[in-house]
Amino acid sequence: MPRWMETRDDATLANAASTLFRSYFSEDPEGVWAAPGRVNVIGDHVDYAGGISIPFALKANTAIALRRSGQPTYRVVSLAPGQHEASRVEIPINEVGPGSPDNWAGYVVGAIWAAIEAGVIPCAEGLDMAIVSDVPVGSGLSSSAALECSAALGSLELATGRSASEAERTALVDACIRAENEVVGASTGGLDQRASLFGQEGKALVIDFQEGSTTLVPFDLSGHGLALLIADTNAPHALNDGQYASRRGVIDDVTAAMGAQTLREVDNAVVRAASWANAEGRDAEVTCKRVKHVVEETDRTAEAAKALERDDLNTFAKLMRDSHESLRDQYEVVTPELESVFQTVGSRGSRMTGGGFGGSVITIVAEDEVAALAERIAQAAEAQGFPEPSFMVATPGAGARRLV
Ligand code: ADP
Ligand code: MG
Repeated sequence: MPRWMETRDDATLANAASTLFRSYFSEDPEGVWAAPGRVNVIGDHVDYAGGISIPFALKANTAIALRRSGQPTYRVVSLAPGQHEASRVEIPINEVGPGSPDNWAGYVVGAIWAAIEAGVIPCAEGLDMAIVSDVPVGSGLSSSAALECSAALGSLELATGRSASEAERTALVDACIRAENEVVGASTGGLDQRASLFGQEGKALVIDFQEGSTTLVPFDLSGHGLALLIADTNAPHALNDGQYASRRGVIDDVTAAMGAQTLREVDNAVVRAASWANAEGRDAEVTCKRVKHVVEETDRTAEAAKALERDDLNTFAKLMRDSHESLRDQYEVVTPELESVFQTVGSRGSRMTGGGFGGSVITIVAEDEVAALAERIAQAAEAQGFPEPSFMVATPGAGARRLV
């Protein structure tokens, strides 16, 4: 039997967060907030280049129970999916900043720190926090953004005593990006945080990073008798950090050499990148492949958005496959485990999703074929000696919000 990921409903998740809170802090929390992971349907490795992505918020969430402690510290406990014992971190408020803390709690208190620095959260207060999550960690479904966004939104709304405005949510996106870049030291382009804070039930987001705009489009596969199957390869992320940064580094270097802010602004980017690489003694072939992926993926995602608007799922599926092949052949972030899933699903609309080097593959499949396809994917992994994958059928859920 294939292994399915657990996704708890809001009430169950809130209850779990409150129970964890009480067991560590011996009091009730003042409130519980949640933020979802996300799946990027198309448009990967373009957010940091002013491109376009189409993610949606998952129904798998990270929940955080909060209480003001009156102490000058943050105390955080977290029970990640599949963990049996909670991790704990305690840090004085004034020790939070670039590079500190250098552990998982950096996502949590780093997001709060960046929101205070930006003036969105009015002042620093000591907090006790208990976190539970259904967003699998390191699976390309953005557990990191779910963690940051739940903590940032929760501490903002607890401090102000009201719901965050749209402008405040936008400011929190930037704060969470800053936390991930400066406190944790992971380069992130903003796709994940935008999807987690602005997702809506039944809708995908078309995010244009150049224009800074987000448009909601209907994403209803079940109206066509179809489903989106996520297969998490559960393959370890070997060398992940350096590889991601090196891909991004090429794009950033080309962009800077062209005197532009983003690659999207550069006309004839592939040709110009080639002559630049030659002149600089860089590998022109590799540089061209990387730039070509980013330029074409952005065009492809713009086309995919139009296909979604006219409900043209055949075109959308074809664009997904083209995207996967480009991530495999030009950006070179597809592992054998990811490729195995892509090959197993045949000619269906399918692609790896997220940053690559491990993580998940998404596939559009008839609702009544979901179970059989999951079984085939699991068998293919077993036959090749890969880790056992886990599965989720994903539909667009709500963005970050207060639960209790
Ligand atoms: P992704 O965001 O795709 O899941 P990342 O590498 O960006 O992968 O983020 C994963 C990291 O986020 C983990 O290594 C851990 O530090 C942190 N993290 C995510 N979820 C949790 C959680 N529920 N509890 C504690 N840390 C978490
Ligand atoms: Mg992440």
